[in-house]
Amino acid sequence: MKSYDVVIIGGGPAGLAAAISSKKNGIDSILILERDKELGGILNQCIHNGFGLHTFKEELTGPEYAARFIEQVKELNIEYELNTMVMDISPDKVVTAMNRTEGLFEIKAKAIVLAMGCRERSRGALNIPGYRPAGIFSAGTAQRLVNIEGYMPGREVVILGSGDIGLIMARRMTFEGAKVKVVAELMPYSGGLKRNIVQCLDDYGIPLKLSHTVLDIKGKKRLEGITLAEVDSKGKPIPGTEEYYSCDTLLLSVGLVPENEISRGMGVEMNPITSGPNVNESLETSIEGVFACGNVLHVHDLVDFVSEEATTAGKNAAIYVKNGKERKSEGHEIMLNPIDGVRYTVPKNINVQRMDDSITVRFRVGGVYKNCYVSAYFDDERVIRRKRPVVAPGEMEEIKLTKEQLLKYPDLKTITVKIEEA
Ligand SMILES: Cc1cc2nc3c(=O)[nH]c(=O)nc-3n(C[C@H](O)[C@H](O)[C@H](O)COP(=O)(O)OP(=O)(O)OC[C@H]3O[C@@H](n4cnc5c(N)ncnc54)[C@H](O)[C@@H]3O)c2cc1C
Repeated sequence: MKSYDVVIIGGGPAGLAAAISSKKNGIDSILILERDKELGGILNQCIHNGFGLHTFKEELTGPEYAARFIEQVKELNIEYELNTMVMDISPDKVVTAMNRTEGLFEIKAKAIVLAMGCRERSRGALNIPGYRPAGIFSAGTAQRLVNIEGYMPGREVVILGSGDIGLIMARRMTFEGAKVKVVAELMPYSGGLKRNIVQCLDDYGIPLKLSHTVLDIKGKKRLEGITLAEVDSKGKPIPGTEEYYSCDTLLLSVGLVPENEISRGMGVEMNPITSGPNVNESLETSIEGVFACGNVLHVHDLVDFVSEEATTAGKNAAIYVKNGKERKSEGHEIMLNPIDGVRYTVPKNINVQRMDDSITVRFRVGGVYKNCYVSAYFDDERVIRRKRPVVAPGEMEEIKLTKEQLLKYPDLKTITVKIEEA
């Protein structure tokens, strides 16, 4: 059985940044395993610009952003295997994978970085009645068809769900000559970035109907149209609000699900809110030496944050390989407690001795809050209070904590993060 110090599952932006970081932190024996035929992950199909504003202070396309990391991986002589699907990882870090040349094979790792990204929620998860005609795609599948395979899914389009992929595809289909009739969103707010609503819908006169859902699908062989209806505060369609739209294509952008079958299989403790692993300040899961980053950990809005987080995970994987158990100094452990509008935090707990000089705690909120404060209480004392004109579920929020600050509270047990009315 081959063995490596650090094995990285997934060659998207998270896996690439983690590998580069492990290498720069002194590890030579690194292997990236990627099931696709090229590195870069979902970025390869995101040919629009808007990537890298934080990391490179430039507006790059997805492939351009990915290329900057792929070049570094090649320059640093980091090994990678393409067309290789990881099937299983055992709790003692034996990775089972398969590809066409080697068949089924095993690799022993000292540390593992989980970077498998996420997949789109499908029609099956939605309960839309009606036949199953051609013409219904997830927005990401349509994106791949248009941008990589060179096929046009249809001409008259309705989009259900206003997550970023749906918004981006509304503009993309318009560029390609399709008529996008409406974007419907079940929630009373959009699930996407504000900038994407402006640049992808408003700029092209595409209406966004909030609190609306698809009630019925017409067409047996090919989609002929859909019925849209307004929903009440419980998400139930309001009788009398039905509207019929003729269309040959329905794109679904109804959420992303982190790809954690392998993580669950190896026994990693999961967070029911993020559907990703629970991690500590080192982005280490409940299994020692197994780290997680990127969309497999929690769904991100911007890839820059994925790269930043993955750099931390790769560095800590390197430290784990070099120091092993010694790194696990008995230290002061603080739990993070998300309440009052804050749905979760990453990380879930912080070991003050082990943390870097500062740490960014990321989270999403459960609704739209205007003129509010993002607050952090150290046990009962409010230590952070940041005014925000608006916070919304589509955009990730953060607070920064420093080691110096935490060391001043040697008995601190819990940091509560919440949204407070102004
Ligand atoms: C349509 C769309 C538009 C976006 N627009 C923007 C934008 O404008 N700006 C921005 O900053 N961000 C944007 N993003 C977000 C950004 O692309 C993601 O945050 C980022 O790609 C996540 O990186 P990742 O490495 O975690 O996941 P991915 O990019 O999904 O990479 C995961 C990789 O793991 C591989 N993998 C999974 N399971 C296995 C397995 N079992 N074995 C081997 N390999 C495996 C996959 O093949 C994939 O290559 C957009 C995303 C989408 C989908």
